[in-house]
Amino acid sequence: MCATVSPPPTDFIREIIRRDLETNKFGGRVHTRFPPEPNGYLHIGHAKSICLNFGLAAEFQGKCNLRFDDTNPTKEDIEYVESIMEDVHWLGFDWEDRLFYASDYFEQLYQFAVQLIRAGKAYVDDLSADEIREHRGTLTEPGKESRYRCRSIEENLGLFEGMRAGKFEDGSRVLRAKIDMTSPNLNMRDPVIYRIRRATHHRTGDDWCIYPMYDFAHGFSDSIEGITHSICTLEFEDHRPLYDWFLEQVDAYHPQQIEFARLSLGYTILSKRKLLQLVQEGVVSGWNDPRMPTISGLRRRGYTPEAIRNFCETIGVAKRDSIVDMTLLEYAIREDLNRRAPRVMGVLRPLKVVIENYPDGQAEELDAINNPENPASGTRKVPFSKVLYIEQEDFREVPPPKYYRLSPGKEVRLRYAYFVKCTGVVKNENGEVVEVRCTYDPTTRGGDAPDGRKVKATIHWVSAEHSIPAKVRLYDRLFTKPNPGEGGADFKESLNPNSLEVLTGCRVEPTLQGAAAGCRFQFERMGYFCTDSVDSKPDALVFNRTVQLRDTWAKIAAQQG
Ligand code: ATP
Ligand code: MG
Repeated sequence: MCATVSPPPTDFIREIIRRDLETNKFGGRVHTRFPPEPNGYLHIGHAKSICLNFGLAAEFQGKCNLRFDDTNPTKEDIEYVESIMEDVHWLGFDWEDRLFYASDYFEQLYQFAVQLIRAGKAYVDDLSADEIREHRGTLTEPGKESRYRCRSIEENLGLFEGMRAGKFEDGSRVLRAKIDMTSPNLNMRDPVIYRIRRATHHRTGDDWCIYPMYDFAHGFSDSIEGITHSICTLEFEDHRPLYDWFLEQVDAYHPQQIEFARLSLGYTILSKRKLLQLVQEGVVSGWNDPRMPTISGLRRRGYTPEAIRNFCETIGVAKRDSIVDMTLLEYAIREDLNRRAPRVMGVLRPLKVVIENYPDGQAEELDAINNPENPASGTRKVPFSKVLYIEQEDFREVPPPKYYRLSPGKEVRLRYAYFVKCTGVVKNENGEVVEVRCTYDPTTRGGDAPDGRKVKATIHWVSAEHSIPAKVRLYDRLFTKPNPGEGGADFKESLNPNSLEVLTGCRVEPTLQGAAAGCRFQFERMGYFCTDSVDSKPDALVFNRTVQLRDTWAKIAAQQG
């Protein structure tokens, strides 16, 4: 069989890399990295960066490092390090033996800082954080120089050594680069490069009580690793001159920084800080809550790595920020699951149906197709008997116009089984229909009438006696606004109170008995579902709905629009 070869994607980043290869800028090397800060779980935005960095390395026979930018011990944790590694692997990428940590470079970074001081390019400042902020100026006003800016090199070296040795209080002094307090680029106004912070680091323990700032550590780490193309998001464009400045001062190897637009997804937030808030305040059950846009949440929801990778390829990379519609992500998972998820029948909100003319105590097995998209997946047997469950919404005592499903006197097809006709209903004391009475036509076994008679609807069902109970969780958007927190509003004000609906009492066909955690299915007509990796047990199934079969959201938006 010959595989279809899709043309290599092209975009401005790939063009730069191709040009660099042609001009032999980095000796023909392509070496990228994915540099997360281990202060939260990865989200779908990070997936874009992972696919890009690892993808470019693979495409150009290069390498991609995984490097933890772990310079802020108060916010970082080993739990995050582990989850990030798990997520990158799960997405299908491998850093091989190239796992690095900025904390591995702490000594070297310290030496770079000493070099800057020796060159008269850095000084120890005793101003408070507030004063530093006040001195910084604004976009329209230049900053003011600190009165400590003119300290001698000797004094600075001694003080910086003292900072490292723990002689000073947290926050009492910082080391700053000496650049230009009048620069139109605020990042160049003598940025802080080291601060005193007595915090235990998840890797270096209490070895250090001073920590480099992200901007100082990041560019140098890329340089130390020999990265050729430092790909980052647009907000770092204004930091590039600073990174360049640092590297020039110590005459270090110089990667090429390239900025691209970060992914923003409608109706959600992609900020670790805000996602952490949702976790800490118990708004969601954890980082891997299936409503979260985290990789672990999407995985638990039933997303596949292939779908996420396809999504990242579809959206591509651009230079301009925009919000990507959630329906694109949902399209990607539907496409993938349509091909691979076996179809089964599951009734989410059961309504009892009794087939009056079907013999008591009889049962038969009917053939059902596992996946019409994949004939190799074959068929299975589904038991049929006198008492069934159908979906409540598939019956109306008084059908609205164009309602073709079951109603008194109407005939429908039960998927893979028979035509049934509704003869009446049984109601409870509140007048609600609790049972639908039907007759079946034994000549329609398998779902076709020999006399050519047609029905307008086919509905799914399970046998009451043979089906097994299940719990199902239905999800909706976590937020009700396309851009939560827009215009300075509190993002939590637009939380969707109905983002989770739990249905107990669902019934699924017996082939699902014993399903392991993380198995994916299409419940015919109801969507794609996955057994929950945390709560589902082979004898107590819990399903998460990954996505509906059609883009109902777009329809709703159009109606409201
Ligand atoms: P957040 O804003 O969620 O806290 P971050 O940028 O602080 O994200 P990092 O751990 O620094 O998180 O990110 C690691 C890498 O992932 C960086 O190179 C960053 O550019 C990239 N990245 C983060 N968020 C996105 C996004 N929404 N789209 C694309 N790339 C992203
Ligand atoms: Mg960051």
